[in-house]
Parts: sequence; structure tokens; C-alpha cells
Amino acid sequence: MALNYRTLLLTFLLLCPGLFSEPSTPVSLHGQLQVRESLILDQHGNPTQLRGMSFFWSQWMEKFYNPRVVDWLVDDWNVSIVRAAMGVKHDETISGYIYNGSEAKRVTTIVDASIKRGIYVIIDWHDHYAFNNIKESKKFFQKMAQRYGRYPNVIYEIFNEPVDVSWNDVVKPYAEELVKTIRAIDPDNLIIIGSPHWSQDVDSVAENPVQGTNLVYSLHFYAATHGADLRKRAQVAIDKGIALFVSEFGTCLSTGDGFLDSIETEHWFTFMDKHNLSWCNWSVGDKNETASILLPGARYYGKWTPRELSASGKLIRYKLRKYAGIVEKEITLDKKKPEKRLLRFKPL
Ligand code: MG
Repeated sequence: MALNYRTLLLTFLLLCPGLFSEPSTPVSLHGQLQVRESLILDQHGNPTQLRGMSFFWSQWMEKFYNPRVVDWLVDDWNVSIVRAAMGVKHDETISGYIYNGSEAKRVTTIVDASIKRGIYVIIDWHDHYAFNNIKESKKFFQKMAQRYGRYPNVIYEIFNEPVDVSWNDVVKPYAEELVKTIRAIDPDNLIIIGSPHWSQDVDSVAENPVQGTNLVYSLHFYAATHGADLRKRAQVAIDKGIALFVSEFGTCLSTGDGFLDSIETEHWFTFMDKHNLSWCNWSVGDKNETASILLPGARYYGKWTPRELSASGKLIRYKLRKYAGIVEKEITLDKKKPEKRLLRFKPL
């Protein structure tokens, strides 16, 4: 009898090999990413589009920088990427990595959790004046490349949003230094390069791009402020053959607040899908402004109920789940709170 049981068990195991294997993850499916002209390709050479969430400035939303939030974003929101936005230097509040080195720990917590869950993760030097802190930034990315360069999950973003400065004289030389520093350690992981005017001047950057492999350029937009004109400029950059990455976008005004423009956001989704542009929505936070996906006081460990989500949170969660093939009832707004910011919000 014992033999029969054993035979049965063996037959069962042979017939169901997938039963005990690890479930697939974005990184197990796509592996090491690479850039070919204006496209990001996966390890099989197929165009790849990643979608997910950016965390808020690390110094102001520390409470969400924990593995349980990453778990929830993977399990409930179906993200394939997150972005850890390390605040670098904010003089008014004397905060950020330059003042407090422990900001790096918040970032590595998110990176480690993302690797564990098999998603991609951006290490973002969240600074508007990175050229003033190049020594620190080179040292930081050296450490990150040494620690994470062998993981296909990791993407480096070396300069979030340069302000009104010259590409040729300021931002490009900074980017070249950083690319050299990272490439000395990690030959292949993607590097996202910012462009002047809050990562919008991608068309002029395309005239004189940085030399190197697997380099992409960030394109940032806020739907209630930036529309067809910015898409036109992005189209110019794409036509010139550089790869873009929407490492940050908002559904509202560029202030992070104001009305939620779901119509323009939808135009952007169409554009991003057409060109396989990866994106991270700004942001995982509960600050009382439209861009936050959470309402003030939302729980620090995820497991958010619809009552903890802002209108923008509901919209982005709905989209991410829809892209993942989860069909559910279209979202509706709370009609008892007809805030001005929601006037143009319509179920998609
Ligand atoms: Mg590598």
C-alpha cells in the first residue's frame, strides 16, 4: 500500500510541476532591462512598460517607507515598479540626506523590499540642485551600485528635476560624471537622466544626449498643467531616438494640488501606452493635496480601504489593476464632497 501512495504522489508531482514553483514576478518575466534607441526592452528583446508608484520625499513621509507598503502596492495595486525619492537637501527645513545620512536607509528599505517581491525599483536622487552636491551624489551612487548593481531590479535616477539651468553647461556635465561613476561598477542597469525645467526639456536634450549604454531621460508632467504641448516635445525627443521614462507624474497641477484632471490624465495614458513609456505616479503620501494617493491619517503599513484613498489614489489604483487585467466596477466619486479639485473628474 505504501508503494502505491508513493507512486501516486510521484505521479501527482510530475503532472503538476508548476504547483510548487515560485509565482512569476515582473523581474522574473522581464529580467535585465536594456535600451535600444527610444525603447526599453526586456531580457528577451521585447518592449517593456513598467507602471507603479513613486514614494513622496523621504524626509517628509518616512512612515510609508516600509516593506509592508511595498507588499500592499504589489498585492493590491499590481505595481511592477516603485520609486524611492530620497530627499537630498532642503535648506528651509534643514532636512534631507546631506543633513541626515539616515535618509539612505529609508531608500534601501524600499529597494530590499522590492527585490524580495520581484519588482523594479528606482533609486531617485530627489534634488533640484544636484550639481551643487555632486561629490555626495557620486559617493551615494557608488555605494548603491556596489550594493545593488547585480540586481536587475534596480534603476538609478541621478537628478530628479533640474530647474532653469543649461543642459549643455550644467546638467549634461553632471550626468556624464554620474554615468561614469556608476558604469565603473555596474555596466548595465538603467540610468535615468533629468532634463532642465523640471524634466521637461527632453526635445532639446535629444539634440545632444549623453553617450553611453542603457541611458533614459525622465519626462515629468502634471496633467492639469501640462498637456498637448509637452506631448509634442516628447514626441520630438522620441523621434530623435532617445528613450523617455515618466519617473514622476501627477493627475493635478504642477504644485501637486489643485483640481484633478482625469481627462488630460487619460490623454497622457494613451500617449504613454502608444510609446511604451514606463511610469510612476506621484505619490505615496497622505499630505493634504490632490497628488497624494492617501487621505491624511491613512495607515502607515498599507492595507488601505477605499475610505483611506484620495480621488487620485482611487483613479491610479483603478488604472493599475485594469492594466493587470482586473476588471471591476468603474470608480465613482464621493458626491457628498463636491470639492473644486474634483470638478473634472469622471469615471474612466
Ligand atoms: Mg547590473
